[in-house]
Amino acid sequence: MKITIVGTGYVGLVTGTCLADTGHHVTCVDIDVDRVAMLQTGESPIFEPGLNELIERNVALARLSFTTDANAAYNDTEAIFICVGTPDSGDGTPDLSGVLSVTTAIADAAAHHEDDVLVIVKSTVPVGTTDAVAARLRQTLGDRVSVANNPEFLREGDAINDFTRPDRVVCGTHDDAAKAIVNEIYAPYLRQGHPLIMVDPRSSEMIKYAANAMLASRISFINEMAMLCQAMGADIEAVRHGLASDHRIGGQFLHAGLGYGGSCFPKDVSAVIDMARKAGLPGTLAAAIDEVNQYQREAFLGRIHDRLGADLSNMTIAIWGLAFKPRTDDVREAPAATIATALIDAGASVTGYDPEAGKAFAAATADVSIAASAWDAATDADALIICTEWREFRAVDLSRLHTVMKTPIIFDGRNLYNPQKMRELSFEYYSIGRCDVVPSSPEPPLLA
Ligand code: NAD
Repeated sequence: MKITIVGTGYVGLVTGTCLADTGHHVTCVDIDVDRVAMLQTGESPIFEPGLNELIERNVALARLSFTTDANAAYNDTEAIFICVGTPDSGDGTPDLSGVLSVTTAIADAAAHHEDDVLVIVKSTVPVGTTDAVAARLRQTLGDRVSVANNPEFLREGDAINDFTRPDRVVCGTHDDAAKAIVNEIYAPYLRQGHPLIMVDPRSSEMIKYAANAMLASRISFINEMAMLCQAMGADIEAVRHGLASDHRIGGQFLHAGLGYGGSCFPKDVSAVIDMARKAGLPGTLAAAIDEVNQYQREAFLGRIHDRLGADLSNMTIAIWGLAFKPRTDDVREAPAATIATALIDAGASVTGYDPEAGKAFAAATADVSIAASAWDAATDADALIICTEWREFRAVDLSRLHTVMKTPIIFDGRNLYNPQKMRELSFEYYSIGRCDVVPSSPEPPLLA
């Protein structure tokens, strides 16, 4: 099948590359000239494990190509996936200008031929947007256009696996032609029996928001429990173990830390709040999820200042982990950005390290020095802050870390280390929802 993908970000590039890898002929179009030029040389502009190899292979086999020529890409194709960004406009509503301008461009291009057109909205869009896209296309193209909503559930860092082995595929459409083609496109990925759930477009759009709000709620829930553990002398990791062992609860998205970030959860929770308010509903739970998430970062910063003081001039602070989560170079809404900016505002010199996201972080956050290694960042630091749980930080040589730091103080926003071990190594160690480790203070009393 000939397929067009609009937008070569984390979703569009993964979708296009995986579809090409199953044998389709895929053209990816983007307005970002530099991004397309890079992709034309076979190089990925984003870090996603396994993606570079797949791009190279499918470009070499002439099944995958990249262009800025949208008009050509919208002609002579059997399905057009809209995968452009829908970032927060700044007031909690998603910015739909990309989706709507692509819709108009598709209508204009298709007005010059007689073929049927299938448009699949994969971007995360507020309920009712796919109907609006369909109405706009039908104005120009009448009945020869079919429209579907097909939300994407991939996780950055595991995107290829998530796309090719989905728990489910969701498609929202009233069009039989769209149903048939979407079925055909996804059949290779559903051979293990996972469902393709066909619903109406509005329910499809809502499933995506409900899924992200649900996952975000688990993160905020465990973080609220962590705060309570800290106040009451309990240990959130022990509590998590006890909770996650209940098969009704499970352990996914139940790790205490600095809260969620990235390009999806924050803006999608905001969109749920916005949709609820526009519908005259209180949106109480979604608002609380967001509030707890923001509080998590503020409270962590508060603990840093409680220990180091309000004025951090003359202090050098290291940050390990700059991406919003491990295995990606995406720094959008990353906790490290909030923390680094606040520390710099308080006068500190901040040196950050991330295995993949250093360049993107430096471009997005002013005045942070980027170190070439975790050791370079930590050497001579007055304190180390861990913001992302990259695997290489987990089994680090802690004795060596103690010797290279100017003062061995760690604020661990991801609970990577065992507090008892940190006590034995004479670190001063602050983590989330567990007792602080302060070498001069006695161990917390054991309750009978
Ligand atoms: P992104 O910001 O990484 O990429 C978007 C791309 O679209 C950019 O390359 C941009 O240049 C391009 N673009 C913008 N306007 C365009 C236009 N008019 N024509 C052609 N290209 C255009 O975005 P993303 O992270 O891939 O997310 C895309 C959508 O998928 C969003 O709605 C997002 O909420 C949703 N989503 C994202 C993820 C994720 O993990 N990133 C997961 C599921 C769903």
